[in-house]
Amino acid sequence: MSRETAFQGLQCTECHSSYSKGKNLQKCPRCGGLLDTIINPEILSEKSKGDIDRTRSMWKFRDFLPVDATDKIVSAGEGDTPLRRLSSIQGNVWVKDETKNPTGTFKDRGASLAVTALSRLGVKDLVLSSEGNAGCSFALYSHIADLGCRVLMPRQANPAKVELSRKLGATVTLVEGTIADAGRRAEALATKEGSYNASTFVTPYRHDGKGTMALEICEQLGWRTPDWVVYPVGGGVGLVGMWKMFSILEKIGWVKKRPRFVAVQSAGCAPIVKAHNSKKEDVEEWSDPKTIAFGLRIPKPLAGKWILRCLRESDGIALSVTDEEIRKSMRQALKDEGLLLEPSSAATIAALPHLYSERMIDRSDEVVLIATGSGLKTLEQL
Ligand SMILES: [Zn+2]
Repeated sequence: MSRETAFQGLQCTECHSSYSKGKNLQKCPRCGGLLDTIINPEILSEKSKGDIDRTRSMWKFRDFLPVDATDKIVSAGEGDTPLRRLSSIQGNVWVKDETKNPTGTFKDRGASLAVTALSRLGVKDLVLSSEGNAGCSFALYSHIADLGCRVLMPRQANPAKVELSRKLGATVTLVEGTIADAGRRAEALATKEGSYNASTFVTPYRHDGKGTMALEICEQLGWRTPDWVVYPVGGGVGLVGMWKMFSILEKIGWVKKRPRFVAVQSAGCAPIVKAHNSKKEDVEEWSDPKTIAFGLRIPKPLAGKWILRCLRESDGIALSVTDEEIRKSMRQALKDEGLLLEPSSAATIAALPHLYSERMIDRSDEVVLIATGSGLKTLEQL
């Protein structure tokens, strides 16, 4: 007899229609809204911390993920990344070091989960738009699971990301314009060829994978929640996923509170900062996005409303940093901590002086920065 899993189905974030988990879905068939997975905290509350698997990957938390007990997991050892204290910064600051993932970024968590879910649903070919890192991740997991993988990247993408995706067997097409243009091409291709569109939030199966960062952070702090989580917002998948998991942990009583979020963007593309600080509920497209942090060059995140809702619920802060500050932080992290970060990750370090000097956060507050990706694929920007 198979045990009941917490994964109960899918629900639209707009019209709240719900769907069975056996359905092969992308966005809501009724209204086109984004779908979330339904994870039932009541089933999780029957578990204890002692039940956590000993697997050395994010899959130790598989009970929290939208998979069934019989699903074959597609894994390359993603997650279970170190939480390191940053000794060079005066304050109480940790970094969640996602550079240690198989292709060097936290995108591996979302891709491992999505390819696992899509394999169960019988998907054979997927297509996605990507600034580069998600392309590498989906190429790897599709390669392992024998799925066809086609990636559309803006022509400006870092050459190492294009090369790695190709070496891993993906077909990469470079598109003129921004990620928004690549996204439209992905959608058109998926419709024309009948492949599955696994782009950010077009599929409901990526954000919970990134949510495992929240579970790991709490476990690594001895089931204590930090006061703040500082997160570089591009598509916002990690912020949405972590907020969901922090909320589940609080509901089942494993932690006493949820953290507050700091959303960091680049001054050259800061649609979330602009919307949050002017108390808007949706995001306006940022015209002429320009930044060296390609992961943050997302002029209109598809999940804009959802990201802003999570930020508000966490009583969060949003701020932007300049490319100069980002570049300085990349060099500082490498020299002082031996951390080779890509620009998007370094943006979190660049935010700290503003947060302290403008007294948005206190030096004694416990802060976790999410270092989303390695600088190995962005050496030209160091
Ligand atoms: Zn809907």
